[in-house]
Amino acid sequence: MAMTPPARDTFCSFCGTAYRDATRYPRTCEGCKTQVWANPIPVSVVLVPVVHERRTGLLVVRRAIEPRKSKLALVGGFLEDHETWQEGGAREIREETGVVVDASKLTSFWFTSTAPRPNRVLLFSVAAPVDGSTLGTYAPNAETSERGLVFGPDGLDDVFAFPLHVEAARRWFAREGVVGEHRYVIA
Ligand SMILES: [Zn+2]
Repeated sequence: MAMTPPARDTFCSFCGTAYRDATRYPRTCEGCKTQVWANPIPVSVVLVPVVHERRTGLLVVRRAIEPRKSKLALVGGFLEDHETWQEGGAREIREETGVVVDASKLTSFWFTSTAPRPNRVLLFSVAAPVDGSTLGTYAPNAETSERGLVFGPDGLDDVFAFPLHVEAARRWFAREGVVGEHRYVIA
């Protein structure tokens, strides 16, 4: 039987009073009058240009988990509360791909809210280009089964997990003047 996750914020965390309406935010406690909000969460996503055989591609992973298992994705994740978006983005790249990027060299690129639910804000940045011969070893992990590079913008909808990652990659290839059908290589 499927477990239903416990509902969040059904009781006031300050005084313990049950909320009369726990279906929407903000909620105001009838006991202590404290309001709680649910805010969209930032996600740091890093485009890592990798120079491979005189072409420059973008670093991606193949997802080993749902949603969109076995599709490709750019690498990113939630920030920890002691991290800047640069530090969190660099950490995610290191954890998911084994590639070390300099957090201080990340440049902001594009940000967008998710749709249809705008409960995440994706902060896309670009890392300094990496020489493909220095990527180091990759070990599949719980979340990713493969590390690779994509070259070119066309057809990414068919192989990427998330439309906003496609949009970010397209914007980057357009900026770099790269057109045409994409190619994928395991890296
Ligand atoms: Zn309260």
